[in-house]
Amino acid sequence: MKVLVTGGAGFIGSHLAEELLSRKNSVAIIDNLSTGSIKNIEHLKNNRRFSCHVDTIMNVKLMKKLIGECDVIYHLAAAVGVKYIIDNPLESIKTNITGTEIILEYANKYGKKKSLLASTSEIYGKNMDGLRAFKETDDRVLGATTIPRWSYSCTKALDEFLGLAYWREKKLPVVIARFFNTCGPRQTGRYGMVLPRFVKQALANRPITVYGDGTQTRCFSYVKDIVDAVISLMGCKKAVGEIFNVGNPVPISINDLARKVKNSTGSKSRIIRVPYERAYEKGFEDMKHRQPDITKIKRFIEFKPTVDIDGIIKKTAEYFRG
Ligand code: UDP
Repeated sequence: MKVLVTGGAGFIGSHLAEELLSRKNSVAIIDNLSTGSIKNIEHLKNNRRFSCHVDTIMNVKLMKKLIGECDVIYHLAAAVGVKYIIDNPLESIKTNITGTEIILEYANKYGKKKSLLASTSEIYGKNMDGLRAFKETDDRVLGATTIPRWSYSCTKALDEFLGLAYWREKKLPVVIARFFNTCGPRQTGRYGMVLPRFVKQALANRPITVYGDGTQTRCFSYVKDIVDAVISLMGCKKAVGEIFNVGNPVPISINDLARKVKNSTGSKSRIIRVPYERAYEKGFEDMKHRQPDITKIKRFIEFKPTVDIDGIIKKTAEYFRG
């Protein structure tokens, strides 16, 4: 199978490309290296079934060629990371909306290529409904448009609407995967992601920076579990036209995460609290809890996360030490 991975030099995209190659597919990737890195795919470059295009998904001419040549598309290219979105609001909105429009348009025109759209748990916004896990059909609760963070949730929601509309009106086979805090080797903390930031801080014996009061919770998944799940979803006929939460449903508070990272790395770091306003900007809004309900995905594919938070911390620390 000829596979196109947009955002293939990114953290999740590079692991996906690697796994698809190991399953004997040909893989073409496109990445503008905004948050991705050539280092992530350096080890794939000698594989004759691999090709890499450093360009933007907004290059229509190139996208027409790449989509025309492939059998299926994993669309992961997007502006990601809370910090990155806040610092680059315009580019983020354009990439996430216009980029996805281009991909869906030509996936439809050039032979209705099956497309998996990477979406996000940011979709749910600050919905806190009884602190329970989110179902795919849950309401979305967002803050004001003056708070740039929420633009990300909106752009991804629009991508989902577009994907679903292409399926309903044009019968373009689209599958949507909402990722929840995916972590592991190659993830950088530069754009805000908490786990690689804590691990790096701990290894350097620098203060571990807990934002807010640290009682907020998240559910962390290991990247290889997520990659296996999206490949299974792509292979699942019934999954077309559907949206799935893809994540490990075990929550941990950010305070506990900081302690775990410190203990696991044997670090001398202090754990410090940083007000959100100082970490991001005035008026910043965080979500208190975010947990996936994975009942739906388990009805469609075999999905059982294999690496828990201790394993993820260990593997991330090994990566940074290496
Ligand atoms: N966070 C933190 N310290 C950091 C970076 C992030 O305490 O150095 C917090 C952040 O405020 C949020 C959680 O960790 O409550 C997860 O943040 P991340 O940006 O990784 O992902 P999010 O789930 O917010 O998209």
